[in-house]
Amino acid sequence: MSLIVVGSVAYDGVETPHGKIDRMLGGAATYISLAAAYFTPVKLVGIVGDDFADEDVELLASRHIDLAGLERVPGKTFFWSGVYSADMNDRTTLRTDLNVFADFNPKLPETYRGEPYLLLGNIQPALQRSVQSQMPQLKLAGGDTMNYWIHDFREELLETIAAWDFLLINDSEARQLSGQHNLRRAAARIQGMGPRTLVVKRGEYGAVLFHGDGHFMAPGYLLEDVFDPTGAGDCFAGGFIGYLAGRGVQPSGGNLDPAELRRAVIYGSVMGSFCCEKFGVDRFRSLTRAEIDARFREFQTCTAFV
Ligand code: AMP
Repeated sequence: MSLIVVGSVAYDGVETPHGKIDRMLGGAATYISLAAAYFTPVKLVGIVGDDFADEDVELLASRHIDLAGLERVPGKTFFWSGVYSADMNDRTTLRTDLNVFADFNPKLPETYRGEPYLLLGNIQPALQRSVQSQMPQLKLAGGDTMNYWIHDFREELLETIAAWDFLLINDSEARQLSGQHNLRRAAARIQGMGPRTLVVKRGEYGAVLFHGDGHFMAPGYLLEDVFDPTGAGDCFAGGFIGYLAGRGVQPSGGNLDPAELRRAVIYGSVMGSFCCEKFGVDRFRSLTRAEIDARFREFQTCTAFV
């Protein structure tokens, strides 16, 4: 059983207080897939131009990420660049060149359509819905969105997330989507829109999982050095859904196992934290499953109390 991941595959230019890189592999689907592949087989859906480098294909393929759904067309790959503030909590986008991504209209290969797990990265809500409609055997589906879609494509987004089991979103977006400043009330309002499970990401401060009437607070890992936070949210999503897919977790009577969801959120935090330790996707070139599990146990140790 595999996880289908949809989203941008990109080249990024990033400047943080630790350095500047003009062009490196990035994209939401890239980060999600690299993180999830530690837990479950992944099949990626995306689009790149003819400038997409063989070594980048090789990195993804070396993680056994199925690339049958990665379209390659004439033109340039999506390019995004941004610069971070001194504390790295804020980021300013300098450039977004959609390039071949402007014509992205995902059509899933036959070998993808029967899979049970789906993570919809942050793309236009109508495209997210179109991908979901191509997967008749889905057991668990959800994804991510951003302020632009919430503001400018609200009705389309509401129609899309109505069919999701879970939504991952950051705190300011949760407030924007719900129209509620109080996070607890915002969560209840969003759960009423469709996704019964909601994960509100709070950057370096961790995440809150809302499920049914309850909630669970996951801290962020206290890193000594954050080199580049780009992709941390996507890696969180990859760790979260990758863990659930790898365990074969699916709703029963509409509900997901709360203990598995808690572990999934911690694996999300673990993968987000590793992502920040090096520039771009570099940490994933050497990261091992043993290191991931060790950090998971560290989370247990530093949050347990009686
Ligand atoms: P994150 O830091 O988790 O928000 O993810 C950053 C990644 O998202 C970068 O690698 C970018 O290439 C990608 N990205 C930035 N803007 C967009 C956009 N408008 N649509 C899709 N992907 C984007």
